[in-house]
Amino acid sequence: MLSIKPIKAFSDNYIWLISTNEGSIVVDPGEADQILKLMSSNEIDLRAIFITHHHYDHTNGIDEILQKKKVRVYGPKNDIKSIDSKLIEGDKLNVIGIDFEIIEIPGHTLDHIAFVHKSSDSPLIFCGDTLFSGGCGRVFEGTFQQMYDSLNKISKLPKDTQIFCGHEYTASNLKFACAVEPENEYISNVYNEVVQMNNNGVPSIPSNLEKEFKINPFLKCTNEKIKDKISDKFGNKYSELEIFTALREWKDNF
Ligand SMILES: [Zn+2]
Repeated sequence: MLSIKPIKAFSDNYIWLISTNEGSIVVDPGEADQILKLMSSNEIDLRAIFITHHHYDHTNGIDEILQKKKVRVYGPKNDIKSIDSKLIEGDKLNVIGIDFEIIEIPGHTLDHIAFVHKSSDSPLIFCGDTLFSGGCGRVFEGTFQQMYDSLNKISKLPKDTQIFCGHEYTASNLKFACAVEPENEYISNVYNEVVQMNNNGVPSIPSNLEKEFKINPFLKCTNEKIKDKISDKFGNKYSELEIFTALREWKDNF
């Protein structure tokens, strides 16, 4: 039986705890404290750590966890020494009885990868800071083209793929989405729901791709209304990449 739970870290990070009867995996442990507590009280039998990219708020807890228990750390090719299984596009692994496949999704950082579980009944992706609910990560190291390609790669997964991202940014993302599509009632309804969830301390994650296609402007760069909005605001923008870039830059300053 697979269970996936969020562990809140810092102000808005999620460390994902994946468990089966064979043990647990933590994804992107930016902090160690809560995981060490779960280990000490034998609530989890930690078997592995997954890392999506090198940012400290996704990796800072690794060494403290390893001091308590030496488990295998799976992650991208980068300078972090404690990652002992360096993964690239197409790599396959089976941990705690779950199959994962690696996709490379550069843009937010150059090393960014995602862990994809392809199953016919419950497909999943752990995508760090690339696709968020209602938005996407900032383009820090890669190019806009890389980020756009990475989002397109994720969007080719089955529509019922559940999205486990690294931050609770949904409300601020949807506030922006409402500015992009002010007449879209579906988005404003979801925004109101998410604000309510935030007020009640309820995570808005996971999302799923089908929902993201409706609410996430960064997955709608071919949408005529969005094209018109961007053209009105910033002058003529013709290619999908130009629309994406204009949206991302608008959001950076929103
Ligand atoms: Zn990041």
